[in-house]
Amino acid sequence: IWHGKRPHLDILLCAPRGFCAGVDRAIQIVELALEKYGAPVYVRHAIVHNKYVVDGLKAKGAVFVEELSEIPDSAAPVVFSAHGVPKSVPADAKTRNMFFLDATCPLVSKVHVEASRHFEEGHEIVLIGHAGHPEVIGTMGQLPEGAVTLIETVADANAFIPRDPNTLAFVTQTTLSVDDTREIVEALKARFPAINGPHKEDICYATTNRQEAIKAVAPLVDAMIVVGSKNSSNSLRLVEVALRSGCKVATLVDRAEDIDWSLYSGLSSLGVSAGASAPEKLVEEVIDAFALRYDVRVETKVTAEENIAFNIPRVLRTMEVAVG
Ligand code: SF4
Repeated sequence: IWHGKRPHLDILLCAPRGFCAGVDRAIQIVELALEKYGAPVYVRHAIVHNKYVVDGLKAKGAVFVEELSEIPDSAAPVVFSAHGVPKSVPADAKTRNMFFLDATCPLVSKVHVEASRHFEEGHEIVLIGHAGHPEVIGTMGQLPEGAVTLIETVADANAFIPRDPNTLAFVTQTTLSVDDTREIVEALKARFPAINGPHKEDICYATTNRQEAIKAVAPLVDAMIVVGSKNSSNSLRLVEVALRSGCKVATLVDRAEDIDWSLYSGLSSLGVSAGASAPEKLVEEVIDAFALRYDVRVETKVTAEENIAFNIPRVLRTMEVAVG
């Protein structure tokens, strides 16, 4: 029981934060598929990297698998996650006559198209990204084995030995640190001035805007908290950006119950953000948890406006089930 006067806390909410257009679309695809076809709807890999979202969809009848081989022969639809899939996945689904819906974010598909174009033009391709992330597996899997070399760091860029330095091209993962990626691209361009690639990199608008918002807020507050799951690449990058922007304390929490109060006591100001796959409801939950311990005043710091939305697949835009 709290007897004393609660200390004051200024909360500065980053905007934009939370759901991006690709995450919103991917979740809608699973929800609409459940409405239209009924449960079960299979989903290959976590539709987006957020535990709360995945648990919510499971409760509605979505069944999450890592590979198509885990799905029994059935007429139930299978949804591919927002991170994209290697070409072999839709090919396998077709061989098995599966009905699939592709929730790959259009901004990831754009990178797939770029990589394929470079390949057709005879370029050797470098992908800047994190090993093992499903988006990286998906992008590398657009092309035959060995066509794409993964580069994770400036050291990798400096050690890379191309077959022919004059036929190089690069693409990137969409959820990287803007600053780290700039350094890697600069290292590649310094060694291979003829390298082809996007104007800057392929980091998406949502990742860029959320990192910019953190940079604006972090220097103004005692600590920052980012709502998101540990397997969310863009959320992890937000914590890094906060720490690099001079914030002494910055952590990632799935939900309010994960807050380490030993780090978040005695504050007078706090910055709050959320990764692109974290629902706003969980941000509100975190603010409410602070409001139990502090007398909070919430202000929003807007650094960009977002009004991007992606179309959902046509087959889900009508609720009629095709007959025959
Ligand atoms: Fe698409 Fe970017 Fe969202 Fe990933 S973070 S789903 S690339 S908009």
